[in-house]
Amino acid sequence: DAIVRMPAFDDGRPQRYGNALSSSASIMRIVLLGAPGSGKGTQSQLLVKTYGVPQISTGDLLREAVAAGTELGRRAKAAMDAGKLVDDDTVLGMICARLGHADAAKGFILDGFPRNITQADALRKMLRDIGRPLEAVVLLNVDLGILFKRLTGRRICQDCGQVFNVFTSPPDTALHLDQYGHPPRLIQRPDDREEVIGKRLEVYDAQTKPLINYYSDSGLLRVVDADADMGTVFQSIQQAVNS
Ligand code: AMP
Repeated sequence: DAIVRMPAFDDGRPQRYGNALSSSASIMRIVLLGAPGSGKGTQSQLLVKTYGVPQISTGDLLREAVAAGTELGRRAKAAMDAGKLVDDDTVLGMICARLGHADAAKGFILDGFPRNITQADALRKMLRDIGRPLEAVVLLNVDLGILFKRLTGRRICQDCGQVFNVFTSPPDTALHLDQYGHPPRLIQRPDDREEVIGKRLEVYDAQTKPLINYYSDSGLLRVVDADADMGTVFQSIQQAVNS
């Protein structure tokens, strides 16, 4: 079972959180940091499969709320459609509730959260209060030109959530039918339209990028070259969290 891991060796040295991932006793508690289109969602899904800890994506939670037509979803929708950040109170309330679910006791992969310093400070306090601090923050580094192509080409199968790219990884209809029992039915996220992408990248630069220094200062940051194929990036992430 990928979730149950062996006890760590006690070599008498003080434990560092960053190191804790390399000891198999530890539970994975990480943040994937990176611009829109850097592959956080894709890599989170691979980590979920390998380590058996849940992916917590504030973007997914917000999209679910919008689709369900909840009050929170209605409040969030305008900001999302415009490529802006949803207000901190809404997002923090959602995260606090989600971290309280039983499955998060095994650890978690935070995807798309935190997005600014206020959220990072709040997360640090929340995790400190429950005695489960972060172990690593992995920055997925991708060139701006590539991000643009990834985002404009991104399409999602509305039936199963598989992510494709019309430029770089279009779906194979027969294979998809075979694997999922339905043909791919591709939709584009409303905020992946070209006119919104620029805004999202701008917001990332202004509000989220400062987290690189924030987590570098706290010794948690690991930088991964995410301008490579999915498997290579995944290996780099595994190496990074084990270092
Ligand atoms: P994502 O799927 O992570 O790209 O998020 C899609 C949209 O949801 C973003 O453009 C924001 O409008 C909103 N969102 C997601 N996560 C956050 C967050 N941590 N703080 C504020 N807004 C968020």
